[in-house]
Amino acid sequence: MNKKQKLLISACLMGENVKYNGGNNLIKDLESLSQKYKLISFCPEVASGMTIPRIPNEVQSFNPLVVKNELGIDTTDFFTDGAIQTLQLCKQYDIKIALLKAKSPSCGNIEIYDGNFDGTLIKGQGLTANLLMQNNIKIYNETQLGELL
Ligand code: SF4
Repeated sequence: MNKKQKLLISACLMGENVKYNGGNNLIKDLESLSQKYKLISFCPEVASGMTIPRIPNEVQSFNPLVVKNELGIDTTDFFTDGAIQTLQLCKQYDIKIALLKAKSPSCGNIEIYDGNFDGTLIKGQGLTANLLMQNNIKIYNETQLGELL
């Protein structure tokens, strides 16, 4: 019997209550996904020690790299640590693909919020998605699920 391919998945997409507001982003197709892949869930923000719930964060700039929460507190170290831990997990389990939550300052793979906390999106990746991409891990978000199934 063929072994299922491993797929890293944002913990909030698995229905775990790890979002900044204490909720989740459970996806409908989890059953089909789990039939095809061995799912390994992870939340970089919680892994780095951030609380649930937590104040929303947005990337302020990439060069220099700065992430702040809505109160203006610098949280860059948490986001960097979460990204590194996620990459270590992928290396440990030889994970080559990931399904990550769109628009998140950690997990977003195409767009993120612009840093002004007003809902404006810009092209770019969250810190975790960016680090995984740099290490040749293919990233999908929940709107691209069809490509995985
Ligand atoms: S960091 Fe990623 S996994 Fe964690 S709550 Fe945010 S989007 Fe979900």
